[in-house]
Amino acid sequence: MLILDTTLRDGEQTPGISLTVEKKLIIAHALDELGVDIIEAGTAIAGEEEFKAIKEIANSGLKAEVCSFARIKEVDIDAVANADADSVFMVAPSSDIHIRTKFPGKSREDIIEISVRAVEYAKERGLTVEFGAEDSSRADLGFVKELFKAVVDAKADRLTFTDTVGVLIPEKAERIMRELRSTFKVPIAFHGHNDFGLATANTVYAVKGGAKEIHVTVNGLGERAGNAPLEEVVLVLETFYGIKTNIRKEKIYEVSKLVETLTRFPIALNKPVVGYNAFMHESGIHTSALLRNTISYEPIPPELIGRKRAIVHGKHSGKASIIKLVEELGYEADDEQVKMIMKRIKEFEGKGKRVMGSDLIKIIEDVLKVKRGRKIILKGLNVVCGKSGTSPHASIKISLNGEDVEATALGKGPFDASVRALKNALKNYAEKKGDRSIGELVNVKLVNYKANAIIDDKVVDYMERLAERNPKLSDLIERIRIMTGTDAPVDVIIQLEKDDKVVTAIGRSTDIIHASVEAYIECLNKLI
Ligand SMILES: [Zn+2]
Repeated sequence: MLILDTTLRDGEQTPGISLTVEKKLIIAHALDELGVDIIEAGTAIAGEEEFKAIKEIANSGLKAEVCSFARIKEVDIDAVANADADSVFMVAPSSDIHIRTKFPGKSREDIIEISVRAVEYAKERGLTVEFGAEDSSRADLGFVKELFKAVVDAKADRLTFTDTVGVLIPEKAERIMRELRSTFKVPIAFHGHNDFGLATANTVYAVKGGAKEIHVTVNGLGERAGNAPLEEVVLVLETFYGIKTNIRKEKIYEVSKLVETLTRFPIALNKPVVGYNAFMHESGIHTSALLRNTISYEPIPPELIGRKRAIVHGKHSGKASIIKLVEELGYEADDEQVKMIMKRIKEFEGKGKRVMGSDLIKIIEDVLKVKRGRKIILKGLNVVCGKSGTSPHASIKISLNGEDVEATALGKGPFDASVRALKNALKNYAEKKGDRSIGELVNVKLVNYKANAIIDDKVVDYMERLAERNPKLSDLIERIRIMTGTDAPVDVIIQLEKDDKVVTAIGRSTDIIHASVEAYIECLNKLI
């Protein structure tokens, strides 16, 4: 059973995704480690960058066969061969709709003739040829077989039946593959799309019918509704049909996260196998059963694909799980307090919000009135800025030794305005209370400021491991570390100096000003 992964070709054609040479290279390394047999790395004729990416991948010593997409044209095939790819996935139109649209004025016979010439040329250029009939699920099967027969005579090595627009149903996929299998000696591959949500089922049935190779993408990326997802197809084949692939399943999740990070194409929360929720359980009656016997609510063991089970606390949370968590945090709670914590969680969830780890800790600490040893706490911050001809304006509310203080200020930028407002608040408090130590805090000096967009540490570690195999990638890692998307959380690191003492703190938020002020205040707390 061969897996051709086309994340870098069909997946990259997903609207909104565009991968640089380096990103393609790192994904190719990951796919190779994952155990993919054939990596379709792109379309060599599609441009300089694309050509360069395929060439780099082809020359980076991967175990996998490196393949490029091509049309039945000599220029396309030349580009594939010049990019040093091992093989070409060459595609000819096979349905009348596609023939008419792509080769106006040409007949079915013309397509056969052009295809045969293209296959012969690719063989002359030393390429392994996988020949695909595009849109074959909507084509006359008799013609597809005629076309296949002609290219096999011309020494094509493999054939691909493609469900280009995702209109097959499983039974038909199986029947067609069975028929092709009995007609041709060369391996037959299946390429499926997910327009009706049947890509996984069709691919599995194609294998039942005798497909020896399947085309998939990580996370099901691909045009429109995407291609057959690697993770789903592999798990279904192995779990229910006992069909082994070379995929190292325990790497599935990290590769999925890597692809999500580099493509910036988010995985649906409820996506099978790799979605955020796929192994998430809300604690309650259901989780106590789960913890006693994991298969009660978990059809796939999370470790199988390199994941962990997650239990979230929500309005269905049981008392036992709250007590356990309180203990884990190193606190003690009596019956009344546990009840209060559960009540607060229910209120929080009732507002349509989900209690994540930090919210929960906050609720618990609030109820248990745990002192956090901080004198200054940011309670509110509002900044008005932009290119309006007026100065940025900040208003701030802090709690200082338990007392709320508010102040406003103008500044040269939003952060400057926020810090000035903060200092005004400190000054007002110090004057009112005659507190000199607080008053002196306004004399701190900002000695260092650094903002980094965060991506999952595990993804970065993983990329670093892959980069060890290819020194060309180490630059990329550094850039990815500071890669920002508009929704990326930001780490702000600040250093303040006062009387020769330097302190450092980190703030984290999707709002860079908020993160900056949090870090600034954390520093002040260390200086008090
Ligand atoms: Zn496709």
